[in-house]
Amino acid sequence: MAIATPAAPTVDVPAIPLRQLLPWLAFTALLGLLVIFFVSADQGAISIPAGNAIHEWVHDGRHLLGYPCH
Ligand SMILES: [Zn+2]
Repeated sequence: MAIATPAAPTVDVPAIPLRQLLPWLAFTALLGLLVIFFVSADQGAISIPAGNAIHEWVHDGRHLLGYPCH
């Protein structure tokens, strides 16, 4: 005797054209580069905002990612 299983539900995933995705990809890449700059290169001497406040805020992340620090 066979047991009837319910049919799997189908999901329609909308296709997003690449032309609509490109600005968001560029924006996300820019934000990513900004985050990488603040985590890796912001040492206080070449900081965008003066001082090393951002360096201190991301200090644990620097050590976690292996960037040279002190
Ligand atoms: Zn450090």
